[in-house]
Amino acid sequence: MRASHTYTIRPKWHLFFLKAANHIFRMQISQSPKTKAIFLDKDGTLIRDLPYNADPALVVFEAGVFEGLRTLQAQGYQLAIISNQPGLAMGKFTSPDLDKLIQFFNRTFQENELELAGFYYCPHAPAELGFSCACRKPEPGMLVRAAEELHIDLQQSWMIGDILNDVEAGNRAGCRTVLIGNGNETEWLTGPFRDPVFTASNFLEAATYISTQKETTDA
Ligand SMILES: [Mg+2]
Ligand SMILES: [Zn+2]
Repeated sequence: MRASHTYTIRPKWHLFFLKAANHIFRMQISQSPKTKAIFLDKDGTLIRDLPYNADPALVVFEAGVFEGLRTLQAQGYQLAIISNQPGLAMGKFTSPDLDKLIQFFNRTFQENELELAGFYYCPHAPAELGFSCACRKPEPGMLVRAAEELHIDLQQSWMIGDILNDVEAGNRAGCRTVLIGNGNETEWLTGPFRDPVFTASNFLEAATYISTQKETTDA
């Protein structure tokens, strides 16, 4: 800004313009359309389940994952991982270990022409007496936070997972859900939020199913 003695607009007008500019800025944010997302469980869904592993060298992606994700990304879905990581609280690996794993996922997605919009994880152990967090699936906390940060319309979004706790988290958040029935769910506990829209036999089938569904109309 120029020096004040050459500045001819009176202070109150100056304030008025600042307020107007701020108002327009906020209107643009609230009016920009929300995007949609695919929320992805990691272990047993994107990669082979190896309990408490944080070593990138031991990660094996499931068949058809990248192909399926490219189809969904091409339809305008953002991709975000939603993962319980109780191994942190249990001392199975450290936070820097997990950071390296997240970098590995970012890199691997890029190498496969995919963009990972977010990697959300719950660092807490399963509920102990007197404490339970709001993020560990089947709670929907991670999806709700992702929706806020990535400006996502949950009703137009999907959760893909290999157990019913993934399904419940997705349904509680207001998404539609697909279960990959690969045998990883063993308890089959029932409940009001534990029914998926569709059960696929593998990731590609899940992605293909979602890519052929219409957007929901009741926004
Ligand atoms: Mg899983
Ligand atoms: Zn948590």
